[in-house]
Amino acid sequence: MENKGTITTFLTEDGFVRLRFGETTGIVSYMAQRHHPSKTVTAALGRALTAAAIMGSTLKDEDGSLTLRFKGDGPCGGLTCVADSMGNVRGCADEPTAELPPNALGKLDVGGVVGHNGDLYVVRDYGFGEPYVGYVKLVSGEIGDDITNYYAVSEQTPTVCALGVRVNQDGSLKSAGGFLLQLMPGAPDELAEKLEARVQAMPSLSQLIAEGKTAEDVAAMVFGDIAYQNMGETEVRYKCNCDRERYRHSIKSIGIQELKKMRDSREGAEVICRFCDERYFFPPEEVDSMYLERVAELKARKNNDE
Ligand SMILES: [Zn+2]
Repeated sequence: MENKGTITTFLTEDGFVRLRFGETTGIVSYMAQRHHPSKTVTAALGRALTAAAIMGSTLKDEDGSLTLRFKGDGPCGGLTCVADSMGNVRGCADEPTAELPPNALGKLDVGGVVGHNGDLYVVRDYGFGEPYVGYVKLVSGEIGDDITNYYAVSEQTPTVCALGVRVNQDGSLKSAGGFLLQLMPGAPDELAEKLEARVQAMPSLSQLIAEGKTAEDVAAMVFGDIAYQNMGETEVRYKCNCDRERYRHSIKSIGIQELKKMRDSREGAEVICRFCDERYFFPPEEVDSMYLERVAELKARKNNDE
């Protein structure tokens, strides 16, 4: 199953404007096949995954990761997307099957399903020290607007974030992608105005991508007569980092009473990863040893405290 995408970076020759374009059809379609979300959640989560993939592409530290958490008052509950410095992205919705009728424009109602009110958290974890957490209120729940607003408010970087996901009538994915256009410090005001006018005159990104426009095509439309260079591309893919050991640890860390109940039931424990739908089963004998390990840990901690 194809689950790859590409992030292409362009920089104007004066160094004032950076455009990062993400072609993410493979990633979003892989996500949709694993999670079976509703059409509108496919679009919402697809946009958020695309934004995470593009934003994560500048992470440098090997252990670095970026998390986007949209928590709105709409029926999908919340969206969580994580990208790491190796080009892996993953995402999930709290309520993947939530659905709404089309909005007033006849489009998938992404803002409605996410919610027009709520919070966006952007967590940058550098793999050492405390993670950096940025926070803004949602402006529309349409994802692109919310990312644009995040950069303006929380990072003081003038940015346009455009995201587009097209879903076929049967619910399968047609295309997905997006871009992040950012002004570097010291960029002249005329340049900002010129770019803003150009971007506003462009057709919607979902239309451009559905028409098969490439990163180069979109860069040419955005920049026009402004000289720019293609700085190269990086590959991104949908990949979860979960493993059995991680889930064993999280089950062991629930309250000791819960763990005892689980052990006494003799049913074992099952966990299904929300990001990749992988199923992990721990048979009763293993739950026994998890319980005993936990009891020993608590005892050791108590002795240390005394
Ligand atoms: Zn997983």
